[in-house]
Amino acid sequence: MAVLSTDRRARSEAAFARAEKVLVGGVNSPVRAFGSVGGTPVFVDRARGAMICDVDGNEYVDLVGSWGPAIVGHARQEVVERVTEAAGKGLSFGASCEAESELAELILSALPSADRVRFVNSGTEALMSAIRLARAATGRSRIIKFLGCYHGHSDALLVATGSGGSAFGSPNSAGVTAQAAGDTLLAPYNDLGAVREILASHGGEIAAILVEPLAGNMGYVEPVDGFLDGLRWGCSEHGCLLVFDEVMSGFRVAWGSMQSIVGVTPDITCLGKVIGGGMPVAAYAARRELMDLVSPLGPVYQAGTLSGNPLGMAAGLATLTLCRADGFYEYLAAKSRRLIEGVAEAASGAGVSVQTGATGGMFGITLADRPVRNLDDAKASDHAGYGRFFHAMLNRGVWLPPSGYEAMFMSSAHTDEHVSRVIETAAESFREIAS
Ligand code: PLP
Repeated sequence: MAVLSTDRRARSEAAFARAEKVLVGGVNSPVRAFGSVGGTPVFVDRARGAMICDVDGNEYVDLVGSWGPAIVGHARQEVVERVTEAAGKGLSFGASCEAESELAELILSALPSADRVRFVNSGTEALMSAIRLARAATGRSRIIKFLGCYHGHSDALLVATGSGGSAFGSPNSAGVTAQAAGDTLLAPYNDLGAVREILASHGGEIAAILVEPLAGNMGYVEPVDGFLDGLRWGCSEHGCLLVFDEVMSGFRVAWGSMQSIVGVTPDITCLGKVIGGGMPVAAYAARRELMDLVSPLGPVYQAGTLSGNPLGMAAGLATLTLCRADGFYEYLAAKSRRLIEGVAEAASGAGVSVQTGATGGMFGITLADRPVRNLDDAKASDHAGYGRFFHAMLNRGVWLPPSGYEAMFMSSAHTDEHVSRVIETAAESFREIAS
């Protein structure tokens, strides 16, 4: 692959300089600022299929897919047409439209754990609302979350590690009060023993356990055998609700999402990303008696001016209709597997240690010499090395997440040729960073 010279990104440099004068840090979401990998963020002009194109006209094979939503590739014709048709009828009504029920029916057909959906606009809102619902349903205030799982930026969930595995949370963002964070208890991911300890001492105070059933915010980390079953058992035993945050894994790893792969039934499922096909759509869903607690039927207040808006519903419907096709997830899984196997071989050829894993259309490449099972393992991986790998790949035309703490995403627009190109590029990039 030809290596880009830096002056091939002059327009991105100028765009970032301009953005820094009017946007905080030049971005609207922190990871886009390239803080972990260094350098200037690349500004995007357009994306189509598996490719993303910057404002200087450089093209890249995209393995980020807008952080997950672009599962059918960018600007897929069926999605664009459906959104365009909906836009022609009005962008937002602040009143009900039939597409909301249609998308809800499609989602519920895939998730036997739920029989009612409430649409919101972001994963953050979905998790925030799920906690409120769990607290209302149980009459308890505390929640358990896992270190390294990200559930959006609501106050109760911006909580850092305490000392030991079962510490009370303290805020990890300025502006979050100790009270808001104090009801959040923390445990290491994949550590059922730590959860059991918390439940043994605080079980009667816990409203919910929140978990990413396939973790994607400390790199790609799979649940170990028995972990999610153990959470289910612990919740049932202590009368708390199990909340699966499938904002990332939902409709990304299988039509029935991660819960169908592991065979564990959550009480509440949070969704986002894929269900909006690139538009700001998220949702929480649960069985009827729980969801009936939400307004207007019940006392749990939650509302949204743009919730269920027709453009988001159109994009979600077109996307999920494509995902439902026979063989869709098998195709994604085969491509993801071929990619990680090729990348692992390329790394080993260059003497670089990597850990890889894939489920459906979600996968990870972590520069580490032992398996990554929790946040401590993720922190111990080679983040400086990842930064060099990221830039080596970017300069050769492959778009990776600009942080070693992120998962990667395959789309149905990625062909064998795209995958081969990524593997060849990885081989060159690993040789470059190892030299
Ligand atoms: N939950 C998970 C698992 C996520 O990965 C994210 C975002 O990446 C969120 C929640 C928050 O979603 P949003 O960025 O739409 O608020």
